[in-house]
Order: sequence, then structure tokens, then C-alpha cells
Amino acid sequence: MAEPVPSTRRGAAPPTRPRIPGSGLAKGLAVTLRTMTKKTVTEQYPDVQPDLPPRTRGVIGLFEENCTVCMLCARECPDWCIYIDSHKETVPPAAPGGRERSRNVLDRFAIDFSLCMYCGICIEVCPFDALFWSPEFEYAETDIRELTHERDKLREWMWTVPAPPALDPGAEEPKEIAAARKTAEKLAAAQTGPTEPQGEQP
Ligand code: SF4
Ligand code: SF4
Repeated sequence: MAEPVPSTRRGAAPPTRPRIPGSGLAKGLAVTLRTMTKKTVTEQYPDVQPDLPPRTRGVIGLFEENCTVCMLCARECPDWCIYIDSHKETVPPAAPGGRERSRNVLDRFAIDFSLCMYCGICIEVCPFDALFWSPEFEYAETDIRELTHERDKLREWMWTVPAPPALDPGAEEPKEIAAARKTAEKLAAAQTGPTEPQGEQP
């Protein structure tokens, strides 16, 4: 013979405690009082600008002088939202009897930020440090076509790129800075001219 099933297993509601009148209101007021004493986390943007971390991915700036039109960023972009046009130019030989060289000249560099997913791959793969993150984020548009930023606009974003963080104490000087410093020292020495030998006065 089958065992009798208790009433709760047959789907009947379990017995509830009798409710004290006004207990829900008291709980709600307790939550309100607790919240009133806590520090608010709401930021009053746009009246108050947010305090963004230094590595914020807001928009991409182009340092055009460093770009060699190698196309690596456009090829690696998962969204295919980097548009680059260029042409070749022949450079005359640096010295008589030398060979002519050809170099790429940038005609167009644009990023469509309506497609960009801010992955940063283009910045990571650029071998010549021509692309940088800027924390600037206030560039919403009512026309989606305006979100394709051409080279002039990408250059403007460079002004908002933060300076790199300071090196750790005792760290080796980066080779680019060392090379730039040596070149500047050589130029300064060439401008001041050869120093007069400290000889005997006639
Ligand atoms: S951040 Fe990513 S998606 Fe945006 S342009 Fe660079 S590679 Fe393309
Ligand atoms: S990877 Fe860098 S150097 Fe090459 S095309 Fe892109 S921005 Fe220019």
C-alpha cells in the first residue's frame, strides 16, 4: 500500500506567520534611513565631469608623423572600420650617385567610431606608435556619418592624450628618449660652435 503524501508535497501552500500591521512600512523606512546616511555614488554628469582613470578608452588619436602607411592596423581591425588611402612617391637620392627611394604618402586615414568596438588592437599592433588612446568621450552625434573621424579630427584628439606614466625609479631610459636626447645634445653643440682652447694670453 502507498505511503500517504504530506499536504505540503501535494502542492498546498505552507502555513504563513501572521503579519504584524505596519511591519512592511517600518522595513521600508529602515531602508530609506540606511541609504540616507550612506555616501551617494551618483555622479551629476554633465554638471560634474567624471573622474576617469588614466587608461580610459575614449577615442583614438592619430600621430600622423609616425604613420608609415604599413596598413597593419587596418588589416588587424576586427570591425574593418579603419580606412586608409595612400600613394607612392619617389624620393631623390640623399647623396649624388645614390639610388632613388619610394615611400608611402598618406592620403586618407579615418576611423568609423560607429563600428569601432574599442578593443585597442589597432593601437597594440601599430609598430610605429602612431595611434593612442585619449580619454575624451564627448563626441556623440545625431548623424551617424559624423562618427567617421577623418585624419584632421584624429590628429586633434592627440591633444587630449595623457602623458605616459613616469618610469619606475632606477628604470633604464627608453631607447627612443636616449636617441632624441643625444641628437638634441649634438645639435646644441653644433650651434654653439667649437669651444676656444684655454691657452696662454698674448
Ligand atoms: S579599437 Fe578595435 S575596433 Fe576600434 S578601430 Fe581599433 S582595432 Fe578597430
Ligand atoms: S599600423 Fe600604425 S604605422 Fe601602420 S598604417 Fe596603422 S597607424 Fe600607420
